[in-house]
Amino acid sequence: MTKISAEQYLEDRLAELMPKMGLSEWRITLKFDGIHSDSDESSTIQANCNACNQSKQATITFYLDSIEGLSDLDEALIHELCHCILAPIDDYSLMAIAASRRRTEGMLSIAASQAVELIACNLERTFSRLLSNSDG
Ligand SMILES: [Zn+2]
Repeated sequence: MTKISAEQYLEDRLAELMPKMGLSEWRITLKFDGIHSDSDESSTIQANCNACNQSKQATITFYLDSIEGLSDLDEALIHELCHCILAPIDDYSLMAIAASRRRTEGMLSIAASQAVELIACNLERTFSRLLSNSDG
């Protein structure tokens, strides 16, 4: 699969999935990069999502060198769209962290991002089965 065809696949699939996942009113922009350069990460990152619930805008960046095959692209896209669904929790977390005392700030921040990530994985599994693009 070439990068161009991966990008085209993701743009087409995004248009198809947004209404199915209840994200019709969002403005979601896809960006493409080679590989995630953060050397602190132990595992490779396939994509990430920057979503704002208030403005209903999101940017999803795909690191295409880390993704092989259509089903991985599909899972990565669905996973990042789940982060749009979870965006209200991000707003809450930021407020809770800002309101917390200094000692608990770091703990709350880690707990919140871990909870969001786990829920995103659960939602991804559910949506992937429901919205499977394969004939199998
Ligand atoms: Zn995630």
